[in-house]
Amino acid sequence: MVSSSLLPLETPSQAHICPFDQACSYLEQAARELRMDQGLLAVLSNPRKVVTVSIPVKLDSGEVQVLAGHRVQHCDVLGPYKGGTRYHPAVTLREVSALAMLMTWKCALLNIPFGGAKGGIALDPARYSVGELERITRRYTSELIKDIGPAVDIPAPDMGTSAREMAWMMDTYSVNVGHAVPGVVTGKPISIGGSRGRELATGRGVMIIVREALAERGQSLVGARVVIQGFGNVGSAAALLLHQAGAKILAVSTGSGGVFAEAGLDIPALKTYTAQNGRSIKGFPGSVPITNAELLTLPCDVLIPAALENQITEENVNQIRASIVAEAANGPVTLKADQMLELRGITVLPDILTNAGGVVVSYLEWVQGLSYVFWDEERVNWEMEQLMVQAYHKVTQKSKARQIPLRLAAYVLGVGRVAQAVTDRGLYP
Ligand code: NAD
Repeated sequence: MVSSSLLPLETPSQAHICPFDQACSYLEQAARELRMDQGLLAVLSNPRKVVTVSIPVKLDSGEVQVLAGHRVQHCDVLGPYKGGTRYHPAVTLREVSALAMLMTWKCALLNIPFGGAKGGIALDPARYSVGELERITRRYTSELIKDIGPAVDIPAPDMGTSAREMAWMMDTYSVNVGHAVPGVVTGKPISIGGSRGRELATGRGVMIIVREALAERGQSLVGARVVIQGFGNVGSAAALLLHQAGAKILAVSTGSGGVFAEAGLDIPALKTYTAQNGRSIKGFPGSVPITNAELLTLPCDVLIPAALENQITEENVNQIRASIVAEAANGPVTLKADQMLELRGITVLPDILTNAGGVVVSYLEWVQGLSYVFWDEERVNWEMEQLMVQAYHKVTQKSKARQIPLRLAAYVLGVGRVAQAVTDRGLYP
């Protein structure tokens, strides 16, 4: 298997499902399909730059803690690096590297002129005060000051971060360079150049891809039975938009468990409930509690994992009773489980297509920022819809033409575009 000499080996406890090895396996499959030269494969398997910084922070108690922050830049052959910033206790350098690689293929698949990057800090945001999170974010940003910028690398929100962290990053970068630079991040508040539609963008993209996949089977979103793991940025937006389109959301969950209602959850009411209950969905009126393990195995038309990696594995894949698995999270299905779902005839809508709505609207935000012309939400949603639907149909056409699963088809398109660009630009020197 190809691997990277730049990255440390995974620790034994994580070795069974290493996200970077998984990402390399998918790349290798695409490379075989594309009959790619081994030298080119080696170039694409390695991130171009790996940065790890130390983040000392004074906690509210006066104690000093030192955290490790990463930023991995995978490939910028098509344009500036682009990718989210993750705050989660399970963040590792290899995970961030895998996510950076996925971003490269995702941007290429969607025909967006960006390369892939990702950042992350291993921390549980719930254990820090807002002031502590602000100090951590600002120190992380200033440590990366030479590695990011609107023409270099543009961070965005991911798990555990939101418009708030993007505003702190934008401010820190701007103060350091001496003038306001809104284009250094996307997913920022509208007051400082954020795009309308960005907040719901990833969820809207998920809704569009699910809608297209159901339509291809002669099914409609109206009445479709949907189960969603995760009720954060992506899961809650997908739930809301699918609910508005007439789907029945049977269950949703957070890290501490889920809620289930046979007749479908009232998603707008659940969003209000979580806003009033410190993001907790526990005890939502009209629902019964359900564990994350039970949620994943509920019978439904569409199962949407929208939380973490490696949620559908060899252990639970045979209990999955959905017709379609739509990967809203990055890498929620392991390589083995993916093959087993394929054998069972369960369609997997791959992450690099299904959750691309966020980066599409990030791209639209960047374009608006560069032109100083800001669009209304209808225009943003329309532009995004075109790019998502086009990509969906290209992937399904490729899948049919080559008789390959949708994931491999998406990789063939994304990896193929990047490989062509590397070949055309040539190696320097
Ligand atoms: P988030 O932090 O806003 O939400 C994550 C959700 O998952 C929360 O509801 C959390 O409680 C839940 N969760 C955490 N641990 C869990 C567990 N063990 N079991 C079940 N649920 C758990 O994160 P997000 O931004 O919504 O990102 C979710 C996924 O989508 C990630 O894989 C991320 O990389 C991917 N993604 C996000 C974006 C974006 O625009 N935010 C774009 C593309 C892909």
